[in-house]
Amino acid sequence: MDQNIYRSIPSVDNLLSDSRLNSLSESIDRQFLVDIIREITDEARNQIQKNQKVFGQDQLIESIINRVKYETSSWPLSVINATGVILHTNMGRAPLSNEALEAAKNASIDYSDLEVNRKTGKRGSRYSVIANVLNRLTGSQDAIVVNNNAAAMLLGLAAIAKGKEVIVSRGEASEIGGGFRIPDVLVQSGAKLIEVGTVNRTYAEDYEKAITPKTAAILLVHRSNFQVVGFTHEPRLHDIVQVGKSNGIPVLHDLGSGALLDTIPYGLGHEPMPQESIEEGLDLVFFSGDKLLGGPQSGIIIGNDALVAKLKSHPLARAIRPEKMTLAALHQTLLHYIKGEALLKIPVWKMISMPLQHLDTRATKIVQEIGQRAIVVDGFSTVGGGSLPTDLMPSKLISLAPTDKWKTETMITKLRDNDPSVIARIENDCVVFDLRTVEPQKDIEITNAIRLLI
Ligand SMILES: *Cc1c(COP(=O)(O)O)cnc(C)c1O
Repeated sequence: MDQNIYRSIPSVDNLLSDSRLNSLSESIDRQFLVDIIREITDEARNQIQKNQKVFGQDQLIESIINRVKYETSSWPLSVINATGVILHTNMGRAPLSNEALEAAKNASIDYSDLEVNRKTGKRGSRYSVIANVLNRLTGSQDAIVVNNNAAAMLLGLAAIAKGKEVIVSRGEASEIGGGFRIPDVLVQSGAKLIEVGTVNRTYAEDYEKAITPKTAAILLVHRSNFQVVGFTHEPRLHDIVQVGKSNGIPVLHDLGSGALLDTIPYGLGHEPMPQESIEEGLDLVFFSGDKLLGGPQSGIIIGNDALVAKLKSHPLARAIRPEKMTLAALHQTLLHYIKGEALLKIPVWKMISMPLQHLDTRATKIVQEIGQRAIVVDGFSTVGGGSLPTDLMPSKLISLAPTDKWKTETMITKLRDNDPSVIARIENDCVVFDLRTVEPQKDIEITNAIRLLI
């Protein structure tokens, strides 16, 4: 091989003295820049070795600048979710209201009374203000907030059932998603799973018969991401609560979503609500903050004060304690419910309650502006995020059929690479855009992105 072509690669110092990199070095850590330069020049050497490729200095500098830009751009990048899946775990689940965002910002840019009791000047609890709001909304006696619902269950089971038995219906010992399985959480908490009933039918007597001196709790898990249909039986909550009460065993309820508003008026099935579980007499109720509640990632536990106190004083509680930003955003989100403005302010509920007529008007306007291949078709949005798995909300979709030049996959990729990135869906080999999950002020950006595919 001609060793001379290696010399086409300038030294690090040489590159650093180039005016473009020199000015870049003023706004970036020098060692970081040097590391990137080394990486790019090493890659260039490898290319030379492989295929005798020659690199010009300009080309190297451009690669260096691009990599610096790429690695220093902010993350996560905003994307436009045109999938119509409201709670999309890969896209961050529930978007926050402006007020929740503002509260998170204020809580983190300043010192705060997070754990100061302003009346006494003594140390306060970071849970008490939120617990009060949760108690008002759900009728619970006390509450604690942790990092997510998985952590909430881990804490609840560890504090109540470590070294003891927990009774779960066979039809509910499920996988929630991302490899998160109820039986595994039980193992991690140190509790022993006692399965009762069958996959499709479980009766209150099944729980009753499984109670032993080692039983610490009955755990009910809402089937948030699947359904059992056909020959099925599920005991009424009331009957299981009675079994618990008559045996002095706490009954725990993992709800998943934590819908504080009824989903029925929006054409969806009924998603169980935390306040209903409290009303039924469940001892502890677990749910996520970033599913139908519409707040930041968090896990909420509400219930009777003796059990919540036990959870608060467990060492695990400290390990899964939420950040002040989270608590501030969650508190503001909960206040939207208290103020009766959840449908107007919380993005998740704005989307669920968006009238079909609005979606039709918006989609039609975009299609008229684009003309040609785009049409409006009937379709469906979903709640997603492991809530109401079989319920669909009628929607109006913008649909783009593929052409010789624009294959479906090519369009999807191009949209994803767009600035701003647009995530669309494929249906019947067409690319479809569901505006339910797009803020109306972003319709113009969707229009511009689609124009590039015509
Ligand atoms: C989503 C879900 C969980 C996990 O909640 P995270 O907040 O994601 O940790 C647990 N149980 C049920 C029933 C769920 O739907």
